[in-house]
Amino acid sequence: MSDSFDVVVIGGGPAGYPAAIRAAQNKLSVACIDEWKNRDGTAAFGGTCLNAGCIPSKALLESTELYHRAKEEFAAHGIKAPDVTVDVAQMQKRKGSIVKTMTQGILALFKAAGVTPLQGHGKLLSGHRVEFVGHDGTRRELTAKNIILASGSAPIELRSAPFQAPYIVDSWGALDFDSVPKRLGVIGAGVIGLELGSVWRRLGSEAVVLEALPDFLAIADQQLAKEALRGFKKQGLDVRLGAKVTGATVANGAVDVTYTDGKGEQKLTVDRLVVAIGRRPYTKDLLGPGTGVELDERGFIKVDHECRTGAEGVWAVGDCVRGPMLAHKGKEEGVMVADLIADRFAEVNYKTVPSVIYTAPEIAWVGLTEEQVKVGGKPYKVGVFPFLASGRARAMEQAQGFAKVIASKDDDEILGVHVIGPMAGELIAEAVLAMEYSASSEDLQRTIHAHPTLAEAIHEAALAADKRAIDSINR
Ligand code: FAD
Ligand code: AMP
Repeated sequence: MSDSFDVVVIGGGPAGYPAAIRAAQNKLSVACIDEWKNRDGTAAFGGTCLNAGCIPSKALLESTELYHRAKEEFAAHGIKAPDVTVDVAQMQKRKGSIVKTMTQGILALFKAAGVTPLQGHGKLLSGHRVEFVGHDGTRRELTAKNIILASGSAPIELRSAPFQAPYIVDSWGALDFDSVPKRLGVIGAGVIGLELGSVWRRLGSEAVVLEALPDFLAIADQQLAKEALRGFKKQGLDVRLGAKVTGATVANGAVDVTYTDGKGEQKLTVDRLVVAIGRRPYTKDLLGPGTGVELDERGFIKVDHECRTGAEGVWAVGDCVRGPMLAHKGKEEGVMVADLIADRFAEVNYKTVPSVIYTAPEIAWVGLTEEQVKVGGKPYKVGVFPFLASGRARAMEQAQGFAKVIASKDDDEILGVHVIGPMAGELIAEAVLAMEYSASSEDLQRTIHAHPTLAEAIHEAALAADKRAIDSINR
């Protein structure tokens, strides 16, 4: 096998593997190196997202939401299901089989596209070279005109609450519990903490989420965040804000947690503690001497807006570079770089990267929050449509939440769209497309939406921005 390629990608997660496939589609010879190993020792492409992040978490969120609905909502539909029980082992088995199918699918995609998969460690050397050490110990030196670094991220450990499986775990550990912890602690009310807290709360855990910041979901539109917090509290998720964890120790099969809040030092004992305080770029043993690739003060690989590092022919994409740590952001960067290498036009519009939190109700947004628009000083208008007024949401027994459209008063440009409610993560795609095409709120208003659908909420919210909503009272 030749050790010379047009492109070598280091990292086979959602940033790296699409870069490899697109480069191959562009008729370049490509190898993709990935070192991921699952707990059972098997190697798998797909990175954090497919093996330990997006996909397994959504599998469990779906299962636990179905259980919750069977228990709490079926009666309202006239369905009697008094003996609904949970089989955690089966839930985990289903999750495992989805992950396996998806990760093996990447190998099939590589084969079809002509990408050479290499499972083991990759290290960038100077002079367009990459050292590869296979999981079987074989060592090779590859050369490539272009090298794409997509090494991803790793969970941040809290010094005062070091990981100690199975008691104090990261998000991957929390996705693998084999039974429902009676008392669960989660440190961090970010996206991952809320999703994992929801999974185990729905199965019966007494779940306490400790968040150091005084504001809930500070990154989101605060009208949305308030509605979300109300919903989580109603579900029994005990979210404590302004609660900074200062220590955690394992004793007698439980975890004693200390934290400080406005009233001083507090104590909490839980059976399992999940540390979900964020992720850091992962670049361990990635860069050899003299490569010219630089890291910033937080450890991210320094890149420009087109993901070029300081070294000629070396690019970096995904969680290991600046920007939101999201699979779809990494994917678009990977595809952009593969097209730029092939001299094709490509760019990533960082203003329209959607965010989704897959809790119930779901939370999704794109563009600016109302708080950000306010700070910008531009005159703006807001339209809100509650799902209570949506026939489809009512039929689904899912009428909590609303859609909100923020548009410029001057030229009607859509500045941000925020949705909390059923299928918000799917609904936001329309808003992303609208903003990608620089649509006005009038464009949304004049677009026909099928009735009855959840998507009508975005239509009506756009109308409400001009006080022309039909199905809710204009205020
Ligand atoms: P990764 O997915 O981390 O992949 C990097 C790969 O590179 C890994 O396989 C790693 O082993 C390999 N690697 C690293 N260094 C080397 C080396 N030197 N040699 C060889 N291989 C190497 N994002 C979303 O958009 N939606 C979600 O719903 C979502 N849910 C999440 C839920 C959880 C619990 C977690 C933890 C994350 C979630 N994320 C979600 C974030 C998402 O997983 C990441 O943004 C995404 O995986 C980043 O992709 P990446 O390719 O940059 O890195
Ligand atoms: P995210 O980065 O979105 O995954 O969110 C992580 C969250 O963890 C942030 O909201 C942080 O404020 C929070 N956090 C970080 N350190 C602590 C701590 N010691 N105690 C409680 N919350 C924390």
